[in-house]
Amino acid sequence: SEVKKDSKLMHIIHVTAEMAPIAKVGGLGDVVTGLARACLSRGHRVDIMLPFYECIQREQIDDLTLITTYNSYHDGKWIPTHAYSGTVSGIPVIFIEPSHQFFKGQHVYGGSYNELEAYLFFSRACLEWMQVTGTQPDIIHVHEWQTGALPLLYWDMYHYLSLQKPRIVLTIHNMEHYGECRQEQLNMCGLDGSLYATFDKAVDDRTVGHNPERLSLLKGGIVYSNAVVTVSPTYLKETLCSGWLSNTLIRHRDKYVGIVNGIDTAMWNPSIDVFLPSKFHAQNSEGKKLCKYYVQRGLGLASRNHVPDTALKVPLVVCITRLVAQKGLHLIIHAIKQVEELGGQMVILGKAPDSRVESEFEGLVNLHNQGPSIRILLMYSEELSHLLYAAADFILVPSMYEPCGLAQMIGMRYGAVCTSIGQLNPTI
Ligand code: ADP
Repeated sequence: SEVKKDSKLMHIIHVTAEMAPIAKVGGLGDVVTGLARACLSRGHRVDIMLPFYECIQREQIDDLTLITTYNSYHDGKWIPTHAYSGTVSGIPVIFIEPSHQFFKGQHVYGGSYNELEAYLFFSRACLEWMQVTGTQPDIIHVHEWQTGALPLLYWDMYHYLSLQKPRIVLTIHNMEHYGECRQEQLNMCGLDGSLYATFDKAVDDRTVGHNPERLSLLKGGIVYSNAVVTVSPTYLKETLCSGWLSNTLIRHRDKYVGIVNGIDTAMWNPSIDVFLPSKFHAQNSEGKKLCKYYVQRGLGLASRNHVPDTALKVPLVVCITRLVAQKGLHLIIHAIKQVEELGGQMVILGKAPDSRVESEFEGLVNLHNQGPSIRILLMYSEELSHLLYAAADFILVPSMYEPCGLAQMIGMRYGAVCTSIGQLNPTI
């Protein structure tokens, strides 16, 4: 397709904790990859800077090459750090790998290292890399609390060194995570934490009487960025009207905008999706039936004796989500009963970061997975998620609140009706 060229082409570097599909936990990873691809297709130069998590599968990276070895500061020491370049799904990525415990482990989050310290290190290591390589993008685009210290480090340190050109954009994907940080933790990245312990800078407003010890990296990021974006105009209004960050956001209203997320239509395209046994699109959805039957057979929801047509008549409800309170856990559990009673089928694909939630759902697995209509898969699987969106008649999204939400958009792209629980059964 023709490349649309904007009149002012820019160099944009995303600094992020997640990137789909190699280091994705939720929507953040999807949005970073999708936005990078959209800007590349308009002719901008785009790079993504990502921690080189141990869990990243190297075979998913094309042209992985060591490009720079340098030292980056952490807690009084300079840590030898490798920067690699590579391409993921057509997008240039720079991987930052410190010789340290940071980012080791089987998952993106929840390793045995201190996460806050790791992302403080990463935020500085990205600026340090730009400094040592003389890379000056037009925009440094940071995301969430993990990279919230970067704007502080930029304006109060690296801008006085050699980085002059970049301006900083912060996107807030979910205000729930605020990056709680003590002054002495902020000291670890080389800033003087006490200088940020004021109401107009990074002190955490939720602490009664403004406990100057407790800071929020997200708030600091809002104050120090040139522009702050959130993932929908509605969420922008919600966050201005309520929540502990509302005062800060109102003070910075002029630079705060809500832009609705979209999905990466290259990654999420049922007419070419490599994970599907049969492709389909809006003009010809025959292939969707095959995907549904494939899932039903694979999960034991249709037996060998079933005629496909009989199995296909049963409505299939799919729910793909991080299993956290925000996503309406009690409503998901309620939906299981409703779907069963109404004679439908349901598949849940979810991962619970909290062990209590996990064991609650393990109980449901034991209760339902041998039965005829419900399957609960407690794991993260990119491949299965594609297959399930394609198989679904309904995508269930019963979130308590949703800054934007991608699951319903992906569902629609794959020909599924998206629903909150009330619509499954009008009596609720
Ligand atoms: P959030 O960002 O709050 O997690 P979104 O709806 O914006 O919610 O995005 C969630 C993304 O993560 C979607 O792409 C969804 O398919 C994916 N996802 C969530 N849980 C899983 C899982 N267990 N396995 C695979 N993909 C998942």
